[in-house]
Amino acid sequence: MTREEIIRKHKQYLFPSITNYYENPLVTDHASMQYLWDSEGKKYLDFFGGIVTVSVGHCNPRVTSKMKAQMDKLQHASTLFPNEAIVSLAEKCAQITPGEISQSFFSNSGTEANETAIQLARVHTGNYEVVALRHSYSGRSQLAQSLTGQSSWRKSLPGASGVVHALNPYCYRCPLGKTYPSCNVACANDVEAVIQTTTSGQIAAFIAEPIQGLGGFITPPKEYFKIVFKILKNYGGLFIADEVQTGWGRTGKKWFGIEQWEVTPDIITAAKGMANGTPVGATMTRPEIAASFKGLQISTFGGNPVTAVAARATIDLIEEDRLMDNCSTVGAHFRAGLEDLQEKYPVIGDVRGMGLMQAMEFVKDPETKEPAPQETARFMEECRTRGLLIGKGGLYGNVIRMSPPMNIAKSDVDEAIKVMDGALAAVCSPVAVAAR
Ligand code: PMP
Repeated sequence: MTREEIIRKHKQYLFPSITNYYENPLVTDHASMQYLWDSEGKKYLDFFGGIVTVSVGHCNPRVTSKMKAQMDKLQHASTLFPNEAIVSLAEKCAQITPGEISQSFFSNSGTEANETAIQLARVHTGNYEVVALRHSYSGRSQLAQSLTGQSSWRKSLPGASGVVHALNPYCYRCPLGKTYPSCNVACANDVEAVIQTTTSGQIAAFIAEPIQGLGGFITPPKEYFKIVFKILKNYGGLFIADEVQTGWGRTGKKWFGIEQWEVTPDIITAAKGMANGTPVGATMTRPEIAASFKGLQISTFGGNPVTAVAARATIDLIEEDRLMDNCSTVGAHFRAGLEDLQEKYPVIGDVRGMGLMQAMEFVKDPETKEPAPQETARFMEECRTRGLLIGKGGLYGNVIRMSPPMNIAKSDVDEAIKVMDGALAAVCSPVAVAAR
């Protein structure tokens, strides 16, 4: 098919809600490690990795070779029969997850992983209500959409009952109008007020992404989750860490994002980068919580042998090559480059994130912080023209999200920064650095 045919058929045969990036959609053709090629043969440096999913490089042969071998051996038999692939993945997850988390329920997506976690928290605690955060994203099922804290992703209402939303720790735009650290992390204490005033006073769970992904890589202050953890334990709730974007080393040094806040969650959910692009979902917890599921449960494809092999190979590769350390060192280099750009271009109001999960929030004026969604969209187009793929997010569509494969080098970062410098210059004029 030609590029035009693909775009036309996409419009004709897929739901219109499946939107594409860019004024002229980028038709993908093939990819290898940190590079992706479009149908016209143009090469791009991929700094978004299929929405924070390509952890160890596109089509990494150390993952795909094992998948191919598994495909020829046993592609599917369902969870009705044990096999080596699923137990080997589950065993690895038990070894690297924090605390006493040692049992997994595998499914096919982050949405399912979160659905499973909420169901489990409800049956385990006997409570129903759940506290989520504003600006969060949890998935696209009715329950996951109701957990989500952004109107644009909640259009298929009515939502599920029993979900309330606390203020999120968004320091750049503090919902309480305060400044860190003199605020004493007042937003964390809001969780208690929310439980006391908008629930029955007994909750099933608190669910949060350690760094809010679609929300625009909003990164809470270091005290935040510890304070919240203490509060929710007084009201019967489990702590669910949604590690769909932050898991598997991406935030640097640690396997899971929540470990950066020194909190041991009761349940961890994962998907995306866990299997480097093969559909996967995982809900992981302690045995006594897992045992609360009564009755029968099945997920036809959950822990499918090919998926399980892909996930195990991805996790092994991250461990063998110490990619969580690479995320720290290359991530620090990346952060420094982004902060240099911020010095030069006032359109960059905030730079935030951790490890190889970094974002820039675009504003019309750093004083008023008025969001700049048009400039954000134009910047993305300019980067695309110059051969760099990046992502977008934020409630106002004004945050650039970047999550390259975790095995990139500093030279890849330098190339990306150079491209972004040129793209920023095309979108807005730099300030005379000397004059500032
Ligand atoms: N949680 C988070 C933090 C996510 O970013 C996403 C997907 N963007 C989901 C859950 C849902 O995952 P999926 O699209 O695989 O259902």
